[in-house]
Amino acid sequence: MSQTSSIRIADRVHATTVLGPGTRAGLWVQGCDLACPGCIAPHTHKAHGGSAESIEAIVEWLEGLRGIDGLTISGGEPFQQMNGVLSLVTRLRHRGDWSIMLYSGYTMEALRRRGEEAMTLIKQLDIFIDGPYQAHRATAMRWRGSDNQRIHFITERHQEWASQLEEEGLWMEARIDDDGTLRWTGVPPPGFIDAMHEHMAHEGLRLRPIAGP
Ligand code: SF4
Repeated sequence: MSQTSSIRIADRVHATTVLGPGTRAGLWVQGCDLACPGCIAPHTHKAHGGSAESIEAIVEWLEGLRGIDGLTISGGEPFQQMNGVLSLVTRLRHRGDWSIMLYSGYTMEALRRRGEEAMTLIKQLDIFIDGPYQAHRATAMRWRGSDNQRIHFITERHQEWASQLEEEGLWMEARIDDDGTLRWTGVPPPGFIDAMHEHMAHEGLRLRPIAGP
């Protein structure tokens, strides 16, 4: 298969501490047709939404960041742009000591059945979180939206986190942009977003999700 030179992305964040070990850049790809009921990132679903970014530009952006331990890729669905995401991850693996974590709505088993390219991508990750968001199994456990999602440590690099995965908490961050838009990153507890929309409408503020897993 020829290499794709760009990825459609929905959003990015320079630094987050709620989507993986340490302080990480976050990249949300655009496009997902899995239609998980209760998905908290519906703005990432349209395949032609977001913006196309060259792999080169994404790598340059990442290399220009300071104080970052790694990259977390979410969506949207990264495996629906598999060729581009594989190109990006391969480039990062060749160019530096990046910690790379990726969320997918597909299970490891389903991706294994898709063949070699999917497994080539997974093998280059440090952490892979698999499985669709299931609203009826919503959880407050670290890094996950629902408790069916599994955390696979593909390398030894972050093994020390294995004992902390059941820890419950509020794994989200919020910041206010210059234009008064509240942006949140991470995994909000059930009902949180609707309650925030309601409250902020009263305050004349807008709520803009970056995305969750
Ligand atoms: S939760 Fe993730 S995999 Fe499921 S529909 Fe939303 S973006 Fe797609």
